[in-house]
Amino acid sequence: MRELIQGIVDFRELHLPMLADRFRKLASGQSPDTLFITCADSRVVPNLLLSTDPGDLFTMRNVGNLIPPATTDGVSTGDLSEASAIEYAVSVLNVGSIVVCGHSGCGAMRAVLEPSTVAGSPNLRRWLYHADTAAFRLAQEGPLDASRPSHDQLSQLNVLSQLDHLATYPIVRDQVAKGLLKLIGWWFDIATGDMHAWRERDRRFVLIDRRFAESEAAESE
Ligand SMILES: [Zn+2]
Repeated sequence: MRELIQGIVDFRELHLPMLADRFRKLASGQSPDTLFITCADSRVVPNLLLSTDPGDLFTMRNVGNLIPPATTDGVSTGDLSEASAIEYAVSVLNVGSIVVCGHSGCGAMRAVLEPSTVAGSPNLRRWLYHADTAAFRLAQEGPLDASRPSHDQLSQLNVLSQLDHLATYPIVRDQVAKGLLKLIGWWFDIATGDMHAWRERDRRFVLIDRRFAESEAAESE
């Protein structure tokens, strides 16, 4: 805790002077372009990895970057927290993109594969049910990248399963159909610091580097 308090002092003295104007403007409201959904894992640091500033990302984090799917009337089958973040981002903030970002070495994915490791955590066990679709997919379809360890194979498919869950929310489906909202899957490799993007036409996650950025920019022109 002492380190965190010293971190606040460092922020005040070193960084706040440069960000003071931005915070003053942001005090009256936010208009982030993206809802960023990722794992609670301490090694995934969105603002660092994306070089984003205060006000850029509306972020929702939980164990395993899971999104309980909705029933046909649009109500979450799990906790309402995730569904509320989605509704607020889409209908109030009008975000143009939702990113689901998984990562390597995810403890939640390990626990899905080895439930005995969380036998004493009944809430966690129930929460991880929302990754069962990904585990089923891994068993049925096999991995996207067989060179990865099994928990990373599951983590990559989990990104796709959670994108499917997102699309069960009528508000998300409607905005996607109108061309006002994009659903995007990313996967972060902690050991290399590389972020990868799901590319449907290649059926794999591809490295996000300068070449990727240039080809995306060319495609959107
Ligand atoms: Zn994780």
